This record gives sequence, structure tokens and C-alpha cells, in this order.
Amino acid sequence: MRTLSSSPDTTPDPRQPLLDITDLVVEYGMHEPVRAVDQVSLRVRRGEFVGIVGESGCGKSTLLYAVARLLSPPARIVSGQVDFAGHQMVRLTEDELRPIRWRDYSVVMQSAMNALNPVLSIGAQLRDAMAAHERVPAAQMRQRSEEVLRLVGIDPIHLTSYPHQLSGGMRQRAMIAMALVFRPDLIIMDEPTSALDVVAQRSLMRRVKALQEEFGFAVVFVTHDMSLVSHYSDRLAIMYAGQLVELGPTREVFAHARHPYSVGLLGAFPSLRGERRELTGIPGAPPDLRHPPRGCRFQPRCPKVMDICREDPPPYQVGATELVRCHLYGPGAPEHQEPR
Ligand code: SF4
Repeated sequence: MRTLSSSPDTTPDPRQPLLDITDLVVEYGMHEPVRAVDQVSLRVRRGEFVGIVGESGCGKSTLLYAVARLLSPPARIVSGQVDFAGHQMVRLTEDELRPIRWRDYSVVMQSAMNALNPVLSIGAQLRDAMAAHERVPAAQMRQRSEEVLRLVGIDPIHLTSYPHQLSGGMRQRAMIAMALVFRPDLIIMDEPTSALDVVAQRSLMRRVKALQEEFGFAVVFVTHDMSLVSHYSDRLAIMYAGQLVELGPTREVFAHARHPYSVGLLGAFPSLRGERRELTGIPGAPPDLRHPPRGCRFQPRCPKVMDICREDPPPYQVGATELVRCHLYGPGAPEHQEPR
């Protein structure tokens, strides 16, 4: 049995990525399919904190749900691979997924009020999660439930509380406690702070980061709030209209955002560390994914659009930035390899 204090069963090869997503394509519908995730490739190392950022509808949550195999019709994985710790996730049946879901990877949903069962106490829900995966004596379940609640900063007295008796921040912490119960290698978080006020957001983020550093699990964290992940993520992936448009170390993306969309996103959020500056925002709206523009999907909103942008830009590696999907960085382009 794996407990919070036990060691992993095997020693993983640190050179191998924990999660390796390759050319993943997800569509909604059959007759006029909407491509919500378009050829996304992303690697996550063990113990790494990766933030995925973008506007609503950019495909970031769909990507997470595809990786976790939680998509339901009309969404479907059309092509691509997801290797999680040696498991080929796209091919696994529900029976094959059951033993690894929650034990090896877990998911924290956006709204704890919707994800938690309103008619069961927090303790009963923790017990159900454990009982679904292994036979654990009642006393041990109680001990482990208390342990995970303490880890997320909730007094174990709340094992008997129902979700409506907790604050929004405590409900999200209870969700994280459930995600931690088997000490998984990967926790996938879909905007877990979006319903919280700013103080509760920062407090939750600090707790998640401290737990991640203590237990060494990897985090893939989806948010529309770039400033929120800036303090906590090792790398940042920016998505736009279903595509990954920029990927790199968080410091690099913040210091030298290269894709015009990333530059626009950075200008839309107040800096928590730098000088006060005017917020600019990004004019226009994301494209209708039923009829995306030909070539670069950002061109109707891009202040730097060129003739060549009518062609789909390939991903370029520029300096420390691993991927920029923009013609500005193609061979011979003026900004190639030069941070702005
Ligand atoms: Fe702008 Fe062209 Fe780059 Fe797209 S490829 S972001 S339109 S400069």
C-alpha cells in the first residue's frame, strides 16, 4: 500500500518525462467537428510545475481532460499519444485506467461545489475514494483522512462537515486533500482557484506549491490568470485557439514573451513584482473554431501580422524558449533569436 509517508514502489528514470503528450488532437462533434486541441505536444518532468494559460475556450481544459481520459461525448481524441509513466493513456480501456486513476494521477476540478458530493461528509468522500482503490482498515482510513486534511490546512474536525458547511477556499482544499490521498505522481488542476477571492487564491497556491516541494509530485495547472502561475510554475505553456503557441521556462516567458499573443496576455494583467503600468489587453475575440482563419489563428488580432501569416506557422525554438509558433521567428525574420 502506498501511503503519504511511504516510498514509491519503483525508482523511476529521472531522464524520462513523467508525461509526454505528442501531437494530440481533440475534436467536438462528428458532422462539423470543432478542433478544440490541435496537434499539442508537451512534456512534463517528475516534480515539475507546469502552468497552461489562455483565454476561455482556448482548449486548455479540454487538453487536461483528454490527458486524464475524462472527456465525454461529443468530445473525442482523434489522434496523438499521451504517455504517462509508461502508460499509453489514449489506448487504455476504462478497466485499465481504474487502477492508475487517483493512485498515480489525480484531478482537481474547477468548482469544488460541483465536484464534491453535497450529501456526503468530507470524511465519507475521502473514505469512498480510498475504498474504491484498495482494502484499507477503517482506523487506517481515518488516520489517512486526518493526515491529508492537515496537509491542506483543514482541521480534521471537518471530516464530519458537509461541503456547504465549508468556505469556498476550504472546499478547494478538501478537493486537493482527496487528490493527495494516494500521493500520486501527477496532479492535474483545472482552474482550482477561479471561484476564490485573491487572498484565498494566493493562500491555496502557496499550499499547493509547498506540498509539491515536500512530496515531489508534478503539477499541471490550468488558468486564465497568467500572474497567478508566475510565482509557482517552472514552465509556462500558452495556448490560443486550440494550439500551443509558446512554451518555455516561466522566467523566460515573462522576461521575453515572444509570441504576440503572449505579449498581449502579459499586458492584460497587472504585474505583482514590477512597476505600475497601464493594462493594454488584446483587441478582438478568439476565432470561431468551426471556421478558424487560414494560417496563423491569431492574425485577425495580431499587431504584427505579415503576408506570410496566411500560412500556418511551424513551431520554432528561440533562445531559452522551447517553442514559439509565429513567423516572426522563422529563418531570416528580423526578430529571430532576439528577445524583445
Ligand atoms: Fe502574428 Fe503572424 Fe506571428 Fe501569427 S504568425 S502571431 S499573425 S506575426
